[in-house]
Amino acid sequence: MRVGVLAIQGDFSEHVESVRRALDYLNMRGSVEYVRKREQISGLDYLIIPGGESTTISRLMIQSGIYDEIKKKTEKENLAVIGTCAGSILMAREVIDDSRVKTLALMDIAVRRNFFGRQRESFETDLEIEGLGSYHAVFIRAPIIERCWGDCEILAKIGDKIAMARQNRFISLIFHPELTDDYRIYKLFFEL
Ligand code: GLN
Repeated sequence: MRVGVLAIQGDFSEHVESVRRALDYLNMRGSVEYVRKREQISGLDYLIIPGGESTTISRLMIQSGIYDEIKKKTEKENLAVIGTCAGSILMAREVIDDSRVKTLALMDIAVRRNFFGRQRESFETDLEIEGLGSYHAVFIRAPIIERCWGDCEILAKIGDKIAMARQNRFISLIFHPELTDDYRIYKLFFEL
């Protein structure tokens, strides 16, 4: 299997390192690469969109043509995509309160950027994830998933809102799995 990490802005190197360790730990055969050019998308089975600045990632994705390639490959073939933090914004059909971000709209979710505000810019907390159990999650200027509809399924909640969701081959989560050495989220993703 070929895993790509979108590497145009944000904390992509942490994901690449984390995927390497995860594959090793899970005894799975696969390769992981930094994705910077549109030509790379067609060869991938899995794509990770990292945390960073969603407005910047969106703009650079469109400029580079990567945006169109992802749309094509997810519509016509089985590319699985996971978006973490800023990446989760790019997965959304709707960004409440910020129309500047052109998202990939892969999932029927509505997100709100920088939901936790200044007081709680970064924090850690334990979540209960469907199928995984208790999970220690790291949040950095995280968005929130306000709603999900259609075939979309909630995998974890934080308070009365949504922290993680899945729809077909797509996962959106508002925290940072690449910053812990718990590889269960990658395992879940690689099993899609
Ligand atoms: N606040 C960022 C955004 O709205 C996301 C933060 C992150 O990815 N750590 O794009």
